[in-house]
Amino acid sequence: MRPEQSLPFNCLIPRTSGHSGCYGQAHLRQPVHRGPVHRPALRQRLRDPERLVRRLTPALDHGASPHPCDDPRVASPELSSDCSRCFGLCCVLLPFAASSGFGVDKPSGTPCLNLLPDDRCGIHDTLRQDGWPGCTVFECFGAGQQVSQVTYAGVSWREQDNLGEMAAVLSVMRQLHEMLVHLDEVDRRSPDPAAGPVRKEIELLTAAEPEPLLLVDVDDLHVRVGELLADASDRVRRRWPAAADRTRADLAGRRLSGDLRGWTFRGALLIGADLRGAELDDVDLLGADVRDADVRGCDLSSALFLTQPQVNAARGDVGTALPAGLSRPGHWPA
Ligand code: SF4
Repeated sequence: MRPEQSLPFNCLIPRTSGHSGCYGQAHLRQPVHRGPVHRPALRQRLRDPERLVRRLTPALDHGASPHPCDDPRVASPELSSDCSRCFGLCCVLLPFAASSGFGVDKPSGTPCLNLLPDDRCGIHDTLRQDGWPGCTVFECFGAGQQVSQVTYAGVSWREQDNLGEMAAVLSVMRQLHEMLVHLDEVDRRSPDPAAGPVRKEIELLTAAEPEPLLLVDVDDLHVRVGELLADASDRVRRRWPAAADRTRADLAGRRLSGDLRGWTFRGALLIGADLRGAELDDVDLLGADVRDADVRGCDLSSALFLTQPQVNAARGDVGTALPAGLSRPGHWPA
């Protein structure tokens, strides 16, 4: 799925100047089921990577590994959605509203009326025509199949009574996966030795069981990853010394043309903005809300921290150039 046509799920902008942390899709912040797993002992385990990795991967011989974070047997998760290996989690666990681009209102923990018994969408090919554009925007960054196949080891929500916990786990997992997506970009665009250990730490967490996952200090990770992204952005954009900073600016509906190379639009509201014809080399779009932003014909191939859900929500066309790894949405005109 692709719930709620809303802000992209970035929360990696330093929370200064009143920025509240752009979690965007509010349904992914709730409900966080902590319940009986909220225990100091678990917190202590999370501070001890070696104990944690033993808990995560009990079959491994940890004596052979110099450090759990370097253990190649802790696999890197996939970072784009594969609905064929997911139990339709977003179509069940997340709430959405008809006013947000979904056909009906639906509470969390209730299967969508279009979800088939094999966890596929019954109207996948006609979502937009049928009034469900919100479903074409959402992207879980691979968290859905990770939760389905790794966290819950292939046991579907249909076979257990833990929808609240699964919803909270999916929320955490999606945030971890999005951080990994951005850290991969740091590695490609401006490598930073300090990013490697953080990436390994997050990778390790993606393999965790539900209990430790629900105790992850996601806010702390957001701050640490956000600093790495900001530093990488500064390094890349250094070649545009005159670039403007439009962090968190309200530019909704504005016409933005001319030389915008190296500009920062972190967390900015670009809803319905018209960017056609603008020069957009190395623009930083981390967490920018680009719903219905007109990027037809734009060259976004070097944009920083642009994500697939942002692309899905914008108005592009066949002339829109995207960064490597991002796909042109099927609903964009040819
Ligand atoms: S319409 Fe399809 S993709 Fe959207 S929530 Fe329902 S089952 Fe999922």
